[in-house]
Amino acid sequence: MAEAKGETHGCIVCGKLYQLYVVHDSEGNYLGSKVMSAGGKEVTGYGRPLVACETHSADEIGRAAERVYGKQPAPEDE
Ligand SMILES: [Zn+2]
Repeated sequence: MAEAKGETHGCIVCGKLYQLYVVHDSEGNYLGSKVMSAGGKEVTGYGRPLVACETHSADEIGRAAERVYGKQPAPEDE
């Protein structure tokens, strides 16, 4: 059974806080998240709940996430 719980996460780029529902499976593996606050969007592909403002470009978000979590394999790198 998947389990959703509310968490607050800051935008990866600017730190603005957003409310998310974060879903883990019964073994605690991260499945995904849903941004409940207006103006935020989920950042996928990092295996953890990440959020960014809708106003940031994919480039900005990628660079910020890389700075924090290290480089991730991306389908369209470059
Ligand atoms: Zn932001």
